[in-house]
Amino acid sequence: MTTAYRIAVLAGDGIGPEITEVTLNVLRAIAPRFNLDFEFVPALIGGCAIDAVGEPLPAATLETCRQSDAVLLAAIGGTKWDTLPRPLRPETGLLKLRAGLGLFANLRPAKILPQLINASSLKPEVVAGVDLMVVRELTGGIYFGQPRGIFTTESGDARGVNTMAYTAAEVDRIGRVAFETARKRQRKLCSVDKANVLEVSQLWRDRLTALSAEYPDVELTHLYVDNAAMQLVRSPKQFDTIVTGNLFGDILSDIAAMLTGSIGMLPSASLGASGPAVFEPVHGSAPDIAGQDKANPLAMVLSAAMMLRYGLNQPAAATAIEQATLAVLEQGYRTSDLMTEGCILVGCQAMGEQLIAQLTL
Ligand code: NAD
Repeated sequence: MTTAYRIAVLAGDGIGPEITEVTLNVLRAIAPRFNLDFEFVPALIGGCAIDAVGEPLPAATLETCRQSDAVLLAAIGGTKWDTLPRPLRPETGLLKLRAGLGLFANLRPAKILPQLINASSLKPEVVAGVDLMVVRELTGGIYFGQPRGIFTTESGDARGVNTMAYTAAEVDRIGRVAFETARKRQRKLCSVDKANVLEVSQLWRDRLTALSAEYPDVELTHLYVDNAAMQLVRSPKQFDTIVTGNLFGDILSDIAAMLTGSIGMLPSASLGASGPAVFEPVHGSAPDIAGQDKANPLAMVLSAAMMLRYGLNQPAAATAIEQATLAVLEQGYRTSDLMTEGCILVGCQAMGEQLIAQLTL
């Protein structure tokens, strides 16, 4: 029996359309093997939406996304739109999409591929075998807490204020996503906080500990954020799944990403309580190489694999895409961002063709 999915496709700006084309072709190639039927529904976001209809997230795009099983997004932005007022900038479209779909959990995997181990700035023996996932809370914490602002004190001094706050319900919500994610991986969850100093972190730790009773098959540990940052660069192999708040997650997910050293390889997922999740590469629209067939499509292709695993519950199809990616790299094919001596330089399109050749062997 065939399972049908409706996927909102937001190609965006810069290299977006090029990497999207490759990714959709990969999904089309894999569909028959796993009895899947994709309907791809294109929609505008970012600079291309500003040019077409005067706003970065048209209502029609949000509606298309809401009525889909998942959203596949490439990248938005470019210098052309950088001088527009903030509500009209491409990035505002992205923030509105996250808010409109209630995306509160951001999943950022960092996996060292043996073929690309030398791209890391850390020693190969430190990063070999790293395969971790950072689950970051996305809509709470210090980025959204009230009060916030720059105020004037009674003595006339300026005082900048932000508030780090989480409710128990917010912690439980992200905690559940993290435990469920760990269940799909090696069943080890490390919660990162600053409970030795911050009350908000004490609540975070207490809630995670209480939740762990519901997930006896997942091993829960806790680390303070300063130690977690050290451990990530000292001995990253110890981690499987990490869960943390918005601010700590912002920083730790970038440290984890850079263990791999290659921005063109990093996928991500943003999930809500219900409704479709958004799957997108971590990188931006790379305007410096747009339209030149130089972009590495693999981060978006791997985002499509995350969509299959975490959004559509099709883990076998996800694994097939991940294995094809490994095989193509194993054969030495590289886009220019990853090119090293002895490898075979290919463009974005040709990389896609190699992937499809692998998937249809
Ligand atoms: P960027 O990630 O677009 O590019 C940084 C560098 O990495 C560039 O040299 C680029 O050529 C390279 N690069 C990125 N992705 C690549 C790929 N797939 N293959 C090969 N090389 C790749 O970041 P930036 O230059 O700081 O930003 C460019 C634009 O993208 C800006 O308008 C920014 O606002 C936007 N941006 C969007 C997102 C998003 O859509 N989520 C994220 C970050 C930046």
